[in-house]
Amino acid sequence: MTKGKVYLVGAGPGDYKLMTLKGMECIQKADVIVYDRLANVNYLKEAKAGCELIYVGKASAQHTLTQDEINAVIVRYAKEGQIVTRLKGGDPYVFGRGGEEGEFLLEHAIPFEVIPGITSAIAGPCYAGIPITHRDYASSFHVITGHLKDEENEEINWQALAGVKGTLVFLMGVANLKSISKNLIQEGKDKTTPVALISWATRYNQSVVTGTLENIYELALEKEVKPPTLIVIGEVVGLRDKLNFFEQKPLFGKRIVVTRAREQSSTLVEKIGDLGGQAIELPTIRIEEIAKNKELDESIASLKNYNYLVFTSHNTVEIFFNKLKEKGLDTRSLAHMRICAVGPSTVSSLNAKGIEPDIVPKRAVGEAVYECLSVELNEKDSILMPKSAIARDYLIENLSHICKVRAIDLYHTVTEAIDKDMILRMLSQGEIDYMTFTSSSTVDNLIKGIGIENVDALKHTKLISIGPITSKTIKEYGLEVCKEPENYTIDGIVDCIVND
Ligand code: SAH
Repeated sequence: MTKGKVYLVGAGPGDYKLMTLKGMECIQKADVIVYDRLANVNYLKEAKAGCELIYVGKASAQHTLTQDEINAVIVRYAKEGQIVTRLKGGDPYVFGRGGEEGEFLLEHAIPFEVIPGITSAIAGPCYAGIPITHRDYASSFHVITGHLKDEENEEINWQALAGVKGTLVFLMGVANLKSISKNLIQEGKDKTTPVALISWATRYNQSVVTGTLENIYELALEKEVKPPTLIVIGEVVGLRDKLNFFEQKPLFGKRIVVTRAREQSSTLVEKIGDLGGQAIELPTIRIEEIAKNKELDESIASLKNYNYLVFTSHNTVEIFFNKLKEKGLDTRSLAHMRICAVGPSTVSSLNAKGIEPDIVPKRAVGEAVYECLSVELNEKDSILMPKSAIARDYLIENLSHICKVRAIDLYHTVTEAIDKDMILRMLSQGEIDYMTFTSSSTVDNLIKGIGIENVDALKHTKLISIGPITSKTIKEYGLEVCKEPENYTIDGIVDCIVND
């Protein structure tokens, strides 16, 4: 029987990009991924098609699976010859029971590797503006479990901990915060020592409470601090005011819905994440290429008949060039044409194909494109314009008054089913700060998805529209547009939110 293999992978502290390249590789090649609560679920999107995803999360006391059951699951799949990636928050060997899982695999003669991760014990303080060591304040650090079996816990040498000058970091300790601080003070630690409680560290919802050994327990009660939380004790906590880079990010704490098609949303999602916000992907449309597109075949066969080529979206560029390639052609077959690109993402798609467009209208709306083109066209010209099946006719109609225009539909945008209950719940609980719309169809389809009878739910959030046409659609539903960028671009949308 072929044996599988197990990878114990550290998924880092939560920030999506704090994962190792090696860990990501293990996610991509896994047949089965076994993951728990602290691993960022967005990594699961990287899994290959057909990969089985098994949640064994532990939400505090109510364990979904016991450790024995988890071990059994991993071994069973590995024995079936599968590649199992066991994703654990932070580092697998830092209070992650990775050692036990490794021993168990060894007993069953299953090969395994461990991929270290960035532990929350270090990254958490870092993202809260607290360097875990500092030449002036702490020359060591100590990572301790706060999961005490009883108040008088004997595993932990409180006297020694109270005596060291280094930074103390307790994991799994909020429930025992009272006895942790009491024990340390009793053993002689200065009660004015600064303490930080860092919850959901490195994520958009990171929250930090600071105090002293003496008052931190009361503060935690008052602020209702809950796990997962790190307790950081030491003089370094005082540097937080100066070094707090993460919470200063412009979108820190903001939850922003992205309604674009999944294929197109990555730039916006990434920008939101880099600025400290949380992007919630809610694709309302999907791009579906028109199959067996005779019109496209024909126009590519007769490229020499056109002297202008107008691309109105990134999708048209991609589909058009795929077809060119299929026909054994390349950019040289376009050499005789003047090429116009509408919108910055269309320009960059063309650039990626080695083409610098001749004409780039300042704004990505039909009127501006018309203005740009009409000045140089005459009745002898002939335009080829690949487009989306639902694009407005304005441009084609107006250009047709000047010269020959052949518009060919390349794709449809189809409605994507959305989780209506989830989105309505989040809206009613004020969990969504902004919703972004990049076309009228994203607006129509979102409202179709939540049901027209629920349209008022969208009044609980701020709506950001990419441009005037999309804004008009939003207003037609009786809703208000919070902001609209001047340049009708994704960057513009991000700027709108940042400036709001
Ligand atoms: N292996 C993990 C720790 C697992 S123990 C690591 O290396 O980070 C679980 C405890 O880790 C939680 O109770 C909490 O104290 C801490 N923890 C993990 N991720 C955290 C986060 N993002 N924010 C705050 N605490 C976190």
